[in-house]
Formats: sequence, C-alpha cells, structure tokens
Amino acid sequence: MNTSVDAPQPLAAPPWHEAGSGTRITGVRAILTAPENITLVVVRIDTSEPGLYGLGCATFTQRAQAVAEAVDSYLAPQLIGRDPADITDIASSLLVSSYWRFGPVLNNALSGVDMALWDLKGKQAGLPVWQLLGGRCRGAVPVYAHASGRDAVEVEDAVRGYVEAGYRHVRCQVGIPGALTYGAPAAGGASAAAPRPGLPANAWEPDSYLRVVPELFGHLRNTLGEDVHLLHDVHERLHPTQAVRLAKELEPFHLFFLEDLLAPEDLGWLPTVRAQTATPLAIGELFTNPAEYVPLVKDRLIDFVRCHVSAIGGLTPAWRLASAAELFGVRTAWHGPGDVSPIGHAANLALDLAAPNFGIQEQHVFNDAAAEVFPGCPEVRDGHLWPSDAPGLGVDLDEKLAERFPPVGPLVKDAWTRTRLPDGTVQRP
Ligand code: MG
Repeated sequence: MNTSVDAPQPLAAPPWHEAGSGTRITGVRAILTAPENITLVVVRIDTSEPGLYGLGCATFTQRAQAVAEAVDSYLAPQLIGRDPADITDIASSLLVSSYWRFGPVLNNALSGVDMALWDLKGKQAGLPVWQLLGGRCRGAVPVYAHASGRDAVEVEDAVRGYVEAGYRHVRCQVGIPGALTYGAPAAGGASAAAPRPGLPANAWEPDSYLRVVPELFGHLRNTLGEDVHLLHDVHERLHPTQAVRLAKELEPFHLFFLEDLLAPEDLGWLPTVRAQTATPLAIGELFTNPAEYVPLVKDRLIDFVRCHVSAIGGLTPAWRLASAAELFGVRTAWHGPGDVSPIGHAANLALDLAAPNFGIQEQHVFNDAAAEVFPGCPEVRDGHLWPSDAPGLGVDLDEKLAERFPPVGPLVKDAWTRTRLPDGTVQRP
C-alpha cells in the first residue's frame, strides 16, 4: 500500500459499523495481466476471514497503469478496516472522496472495488451474484458474435457460420475499398489494403462507407432472409447529417440495433434521427456518467443502454441504470469486448440474467491462456452464455499464472484510434 503524504485517510466508519458483519477489509490491490496481449486490470480485496477475498474488473486498457495507481494509492488506504458488507455506502463514499468524479480512470478503479465487494458478498452468502440481484429472468443469455469480411460475400459466409453454431444475433462489419474502417479487414485483398491515391495511409473515408454499408445489409437480407438479427457499429465516425442518412437507408433491412451512430458530442442530433427512422439505436459505450443517459432515456431517443460497465463505476451503478431504463422501455446491451476481463464479463452476465429489460450481450471468446489465468471464465455455447451456480461472480484469478502474461503498452493494439479523414484531419476512432 502507498504511504505517500497524500494518501487519503480511511473512510469514516458509518454509525452502524460495529453492528455489522464483523468481517473487515485487510487489503486492496490492483493486478495487471495480459493473456491476450490486452492489459486487463483486476482488483483483489482481502478480508479478515481466512481465504475470503473478492475480485473485480477495473479494465481501462488504454490507461491501465493510471487505474492501478488510483486503486493502490487512493482507494486502498480508504478501505482498510471497513466492513465489506456495505457495498452501497462504500460506493457512495468513494465516488465523492475525490470531489471531482466520473472520469474513466477513477470510475474503473471504483468498479474494481465495487465488483470485488459483490463477489465477496456472494461468496459469504454462498450464492451467485445473479441470485443476489433477484434471481434470473432467463435460462441463458443470448449473445451476439462479430462477423466481418473484405466484402459482402465474406460477411455472409461468416454470418452463416455463426447461425449454424446456434447464434441468432450477429454484428456485421465490412471492408471499404482503399480505406480503413472499424471492425473489418481492408477490402479487396492485400493489394487493395493500400490506400487510394491521395488518401493518407490510415485514412477513413465516409463517402465510400455510406455507400458500402447499405449495400452490405441489402446483400445480407437478400441471401440470408429475416431469420437472423443483424447489428452494426458505426463507432461514432459520421458527421450528424451523414448519420441521419445512414440510419434511414438501413431501415428497410431491419437491424436489431445500430450502435454509436453519433458521438457523445453530437447527441443533440438524436431527436432528428429518431423523427426520421425506426432503426433501433444503441448508444453509450463512451459514457462515464450514468446521468448522461437521462435525456436519451427520458425522451425515448434510444432503444439500448450500451456502456462499458466498469467505465461507469461498476455493477452497482449499472444495475441502477438498468432499472431506470426499464421504466422507459429501454433495454440493456452491455459492452463485452476483449478489454473487459473475464470477471467483468461475469458481472455483465449477472446483470443480463437478472434484468427484466435485458436486450442482448456482446460476446468475447477468450483464448486458452485467458481461460487458464481466470478459472471459471464465462463460456459461450450455442450462441448463449450459461449461468454458473458458483458463489459470487464465479471467476477466480491464478496470480502465479497471470505473472507469465505481464501488461503490455497501450499502443500495442490501438491503431484503430489513429485514423484520419482524407484531408488529414484527426478522425474520432
Ligand atoms: Mg461499439
């Protein structure tokens, strides 16, 4: 634990503390590991009960060391001696302890603590977290897979493969001739991966994108029919009027949802989109404050809340957000990429099982190394995630094995954050 002069004082114990569970937090630390070459951040909370510990996901892979520092130097000193039973009180206390709040670094640090406390509570109760949230609303959780290809035929083949494997929801991304795009390889084979003359090497070109994507979904509906749910991620790359155009042109192809059609900075355009098309919208991967959803949800401007659970502070704020969204007919679609640890995926799964307004879950299929580092790692079968009866979140961390996969730098896999427009202007990733 950090002993520097600016280490915060322990949280003041609430009046009921002595009458609590009697268990005390004895250690809090961040652990970094990268079994898939993506740095994952895990928080481990140890207690006064021998062998009783909790694990939470604090993964903000682009700034992993900053999150670890926030956990070790600023959160851990406040938590020693507290009763781990007081999850809500601890979450509320830590949130305001920095005065300035809701940034992604601190939120991820808070999430690591929050999920670890839920994991602990489940272990103490001998129940999985989804039971603590009220029990399950469904037997298993349907997930969506990522299909991509250099052209529409390759995407079609990938979707067919997933459908044969039991999936009913598939996200589809296609290559753009002569330019980079999000979520798909360059179009037309290796030789065409080179940019068109006049374009920067890392160019993203909206005009071609706006032409190719509706052609893709036209092809998919013509060849696959309507029995599979199709999704697409715009990844906040369009200007607002381009976004309105795309959402309208995709409407005949009946998407399950169109994701991040607008950047957070452009959300004032959402009423315009909504007035012109019935294409369902999922928004919020970049949100770091649940209150950002208030105007979107209260005015029924979106269909799915879609955040990175650890980026909004963890399971506690996500569960409340899901409940608030339910009152407005908005469903959940938690972010589920490879830069959420298996512990974070288990938290998503607990929310998915317990929320009446669950919509869909994004999947990530972890490699064998990750599954060994994280025993109990959630597994996808027949296009679904299946609940585990293991107490807590049900995922452990083999720290000895984790050391074999040390953290990697933030630049290893972030080429997609460095695209430019044809004139050289920086493009949102
Ligand atoms: Mg996305």
